[in-house]
Amino acid sequence: MARYRGPVCKICRRSGEKLFLKGDRCVGPHCVVDRRATSRGSARSAARRPKVSERGLQLREKQKARYTYGVLERQFRRYFAQAKKKAEGVTGENLVQVLEARLDNVVFRLGFGKSRSQARQVVLHGHIKVNGRRVNVPSYCVRAGDVISWGEKAAKTELYRVVVEGIGDRIVPDWLSLDTQTMSGQVVGQPTREQVDARFNEKAIVEYYSR
Ligand code: SF4
Repeated sequence: MARYRGPVCKICRRSGEKLFLKGDRCVGPHCVVDRRATSRGSARSAARRPKVSERGLQLREKQKARYTYGVLERQFRRYFAQAKKKAEGVTGENLVQVLEARLDNVVFRLGFGKSRSQARQVVLHGHIKVNGRRVNVPSYCVRAGDVISWGEKAAKTELYRVVVEGIGDRIVPDWLSLDTQTMSGQVVGQPTREQVDARFNEKAIVEYYSR
């Protein structure tokens, strides 16, 4: 499946928001968004920027969500249609739930990858099992009750060793549970919007697609 392969810090800079696309670097001193926020020229260049229309702002929110989850436009539209079709709930919150249910996102949330793109690689390389069966599709949609674990071969890799070393202090969201002894996680429910720390406005995305 195709995906964006260009420079990711550029996306954060353009959206003016930290989208945490690079793992460790995002929380370190080298993040360009942090550096720019404290640079002397930032206020002057912000004043020079042209005013963005409402449609432009809605588009920006949609792009932020797309890049956060590493999803291309066509697939994102499909997710939106899926969220809209749900009989229960509000479309915006349903969209967040659909995006959060992607297997690569769940692997990232459990701490089995430093970023969503690394989690995606972990899944693509066949290291992850869902309910005991190997799944190598990053967009695979998990459900409540599903158990996510590592495959036997993956447990012999250097990556696995690094993940085990760093998993001790991992805090997972309430809709997931993590067992650090068996290095497995479970989906215990659907996330509410408050439980998802994604930095975009889903209401603006709904308005964007409603025109
Ligand atoms: Fe780059 Fe991460 Fe900072 Fe975004 S949050 S600019 S991806 S370092």
